[in-house]
Amino acid sequence: ATPMAIMIGTGMGARHGILFKHAEAIEQCARLDVVIFDKTGTLTVGQPDVVETVPAADWDEARLIEIAAAVEAHSEHPLAQAILKHAGPVTDRASDYTNIDGQGAMGRVAGRWVHLGNRLLMTAEGVAVDEIEARAESLKGAGRTVIYVAVDRRLAGVIAIADAIRPTSRATIQELHRRKVRVAMITGDNRPTAERVAADLGIDIVLADVLPGQKADEVKKLQAQGLKVGMVGDGVNDAPALTQAEVGFAIGAGTDVAIDSADIVLMRSDPYDVVRAITIARGTLRKMH
Ligand code: ADP
Ligand code: MG
Repeated sequence: ATPMAIMIGTGMGARHGILFKHAEAIEQCARLDVVIFDKTGTLTVGQPDVVETVPAADWDEARLIEIAAAVEAHSEHPLAQAILKHAGPVTDRASDYTNIDGQGAMGRVAGRWVHLGNRLLMTAEGVAVDEIEARAESLKGAGRTVIYVAVDRRLAGVIAIADAIRPTSRATIQELHRRKVRVAMITGDNRPTAERVAADLGIDIVLADVLPGQKADEVKKLQAQGLKVGMVGDGVNDAPALTQAEVGFAIGAGTDVAIDSADIVLMRSDPYDVVRAITIARGTLRKMH
């Protein structure tokens, strides 16, 4: 009966675009204690928009956007795409572009060094942010991602970006709780922004300011507490965490690397399919005993 139950479970999953890659994925999925969701592109749509620009003294909004876009023209990051969409065509791309993994980017525009990214990057570069910090903190409290822009290591302003929450994210978390599964959110984004999004969604464990290389370590920490961990992600930087987790779920619209590292692929890119996968897996396991 075991192979038969697995076959039925696999078939039921496939009808919802839930691809269990191997029989063990179903068994592990039934036993998960906690599921960690990546924030950007998983719980959110991952197509963020610029919603506000706050220039520092001596700067105007248009010039601030222009220099930020000159640097972001080199980047594939969703936040870069938001700034580029807002800026329109870039005439003057930055030279000497460098991506600063999980923190931002830098480059030279009109002979001046431009750094842009999160506050940790500003601290690392010795950029004073006091002038706008109260405004920046209130934007973060509203769930916005705030990008700081510095020119020759002096603050030129901040750009606030919003990423819509997927319509099924809230119900996903509620239903996981009903099934006695705890829910965590993991993100490279800052804590105040992450806390606000998590509160809106009813998520209890918030892992914020996590560098791309540290996501797998966060999975290990939960496993060290004796928990069976599921991890849901879409990005290249999620791949090691997907592998480390008992069950890695890849969002189908995500990167090939994430899909290759996962045990289960959610073809419809709908976080609610994690609930369906667990329901199917538990049903399948009951038939095995
Ligand atoms: P996530 O976990 O949300 O995918 P990342 O690890 O890619 O986040 O990035 C973490 C943070 O670093 C972002 O929230 C942002 O503040 C900053 N950052 C990274 N790349 C860029 C970029 N190209 N432009 C602006 N900010 C960036
Ligand atoms: Mg991501």
